[in-house]
Amino acid sequence: MFQKILIANRGEIALRVLRACKELGIQTVVVHSTADADAMHVRLADESVCIGPPPSRDSYLNIHQIVAACEITGADAVHPGYGFLSENAKFADILAAHNITFIGPSGDHIRIMGDKIEAKRTAKRLGIPVVPGSDGAVTEEKEAKRIAAGIGYPVIIKASAGGGGRGMKVARTEEDLEVALQTARSEAGAAFGDDAVYIEKYLEKPRHIELQVFGDGAGRGVHFGERDCSLQRRHQKVWEEANSPALNAEERARIGGICASAVADLGYSGAGTIEFLYENGEFYFIEMNTRLQVEHPVTEAITGIDLVHEQIRVASGGGLSVRQEDIKFNGHAIECRINAEDPRTFTPSPGTITHFHTPGGLGIRVDSGVYSGYKIPPYYDSLIGKLIVHGRNRVECMMRLRRALDEFVVDGIKTTLPLFRDLVGNADIANGDYDIHWLEKYLAKGDEVANS
Ligand code: ADP
Repeated sequence: MFQKILIANRGEIALRVLRACKELGIQTVVVHSTADADAMHVRLADESVCIGPPPSRDSYLNIHQIVAACEITGADAVHPGYGFLSENAKFADILAAHNITFIGPSGDHIRIMGDKIEAKRTAKRLGIPVVPGSDGAVTEEKEAKRIAAGIGYPVIIKASAGGGGRGMKVARTEEDLEVALQTARSEAGAAFGDDAVYIEKYLEKPRHIELQVFGDGAGRGVHFGERDCSLQRRHQKVWEEANSPALNAEERARIGGICASAVADLGYSGAGTIEFLYENGEFYFIEMNTRLQVEHPVTEAITGIDLVHEQIRVASGGGLSVRQEDIKFNGHAIECRINAEDPRTFTPSPGTITHFHTPGGLGIRVDSGVYSGYKIPPYYDSLIGKLIVHGRNRVECMMRLRRALDEFVVDGIKTTLPLFRDLVGNADIANGDYDIHWLEKYLAKGDEVANS
């Protein structure tokens, strides 16, 4: 087991990882920018190292400083959290070269999944169902038209190097295709320095369903069921559930089994998430994230298993603590991502939190790095906390969520809490009846009412 883990992240996830380390009796080092000197993860860690000024590229993305911090403090492993360097293959390689363990998969696996064309090809080879589309990159308009006609309109053009929902264009007709192909390529080139794009069938009303998987790096793979993350705004997840209101146990076992064997065949090590669009009973692979996800706590709530403990165990060579048959799904869990943003316009609202009171009671978990008097710096992501609620079934979970949202107080800044108070009273949400476009439509309707 590791002696000392360096946490290369900030905010709620830094604290999340720190808690797991403490439970396992592992010493912790956190790195932070000058803007985060007062952050909770800095206060609670055994040691902290300031690695640079506020901009992420000079601090949380500064590989040299982070490696130097490991050497100075004698950390033998790094947990990257999510975002920042968590899916940076070069970072994983550099740590390996310094004999420091990256708590995550190998650089090669990160590289494969970071290239969407390669990821899709690999998924297909491993028996995972994929969205019908081009076999690889498409550059010629003629070829694009031939492929689109073959799969049928509408189609979506996506950047191979894409991420964060950027570089995607939908074409509904052959006339649209030419412009869509050109725009997608130039946007991808500008945003990612790589203009390779590919074509897939555009699904009109899918749900976003993702499978939590784990590999032990020695040919064993398991799945921890799915999460439904269909409630999104601008391709960003807002509310996540486990299990999905749309799946039954049989479908779960089938797609879970496919994903677990894929991970095993790949020789994958650590946590991963295989993301699908789900429509009319069919799953279509879109990507694999080779890290812990923001929404992992809903899976922890229904399985009772600490996924960060598992990541640390696997990375240290101790293997997984569970076999597939040990993983049981109990009840239902929902996570709300609370952002420091205006609940209508979603413009960031940094500033000082004058009062912060979190709900409590059975089935409530709040993962947050903020506190009363904390000043939110304007440089980073606006997520200030996650409310995770567990109940014996979805109805109980929703009742408890409504109560917890009423108790939650964040004064001094604007947050997205009012949005969740609206959503929890909505009939479609109560029925679990929504797809990936539901939230955008709901918000657009609200804007019409507000403007009339
Ligand atoms: P990114 O890595 O940029 O987030 P993804 O491939 O994960 O890109 O897709 C992000 C979102 O875009 C999906 O959650 C879905 O809302 C939409 N999307 C992607 N591919 C398709 C598709 N073939 N049909 C319909 N919507 C899609």
